[in-house]
Amino acid sequence: MARANTAYYASRDPFRDFTTSPEIAQVFGELLGAWAAVVWQLMGAPAQVALVEAGPGRGTLMQDALRCVGRVAPGFAAAAKVHFIETSQRLRAEQGKRVPGAAWHDGLESLPEGPCILLANEFLDALPIRQFVRGAGGWVERFVQDGAFVEVASGGPGREAPVGSVMEVSDVARAWAGGLARRLAAHGGAALILDYGTAERSCGDSFQALRGGKPADPLLDPGSADLTAHVDFAAVACAARAAGAAVWGPVTQGAFLGSLGLWERTAALEAANPGREGELRAAAMRLAAPERMGRLFKVMCMSHPGFPAPPGFEA
Ligand code: SAH
Repeated sequence: MARANTAYYASRDPFRDFTTSPEIAQVFGELLGAWAAVVWQLMGAPAQVALVEAGPGRGTLMQDALRCVGRVAPGFAAAAKVHFIETSQRLRAEQGKRVPGAAWHDGLESLPEGPCILLANEFLDALPIRQFVRGAGGWVERFVQDGAFVEVASGGPGREAPVGSVMEVSDVARAWAGGLARRLAAHGGAALILDYGTAERSCGDSFQALRGGKPADPLLDPGSADLTAHVDFAAVACAARAAGAAVWGPVTQGAFLGSLGLWERTAALEAANPGREGELRAAAMRLAAPERMGRLFKVMCMSHPGFPAPPGFEA
């Protein structure tokens, strides 16, 4: 899956197959920009800070965030240097059109030392998973070989579950969260992770593919479809705490955006854009209504252990 997804992002315009929160409404990136500005204040307003985005897609979130920050927090705008973690050359070019002057990285390792504020929307779900099935005789790992599923006896996911259960483990997501947490503990800062998934560890097959905007067989024609799996936030939190960071949430995306002022900002945009009221309200509803993206999507923050509660996680 790792290689299939790298090929997919490198060769296609993924936004023909799916849409994401920043592509739905400008208010999403604006609110995350305001969040980052408050976090920078809580950090003591350092003169230099890396504003990092992992998996920035078309660069829309950062473009909207920077526009908002330039208006409401010029001190932060002057202190922040944008860094993108992106492996697709094609998407790097898209991102450069919307955010000129960014620096690009293949991973966390090459980021500069010093405090950072990191945003990651729908990044962890694109990382590879391993899938285990509980058979009558024990766990087997299920994977693809020569275009077909094979099942091989294995140690399992490190947890018991009834026969027939499917469990998914993303070693890559855990390692990434651990690496990020170590950075935050050593250099200061906070990271906001937004994705769809479960707060508690759960069973079930969530591996799925979207090809041309429609659900597809994830095993057909590798590299042609977007492959994703639900994020196991409990495992991510565990890895982050073990590496020395504080973890906040996860809370639902609906509650998080609401507490950051989604409805007030939407009302202001409606007042400023007569004739677009219905469209702006519908976009906000799509992000926050429980039956849309408001409940399935979760928001988690990791921070330096000395951090006070970041915005949206005060309760
Ligand atoms: N955050 C964006 C895009 C989400 S799609 C949005 O909300 O619209 C996932 C993004 O992660 C893409 O930019 C993809 O190229 C990038 N990506 C996927 N796997 C990656 C990896 N292993 N390392 C770095 N970037 C990766």
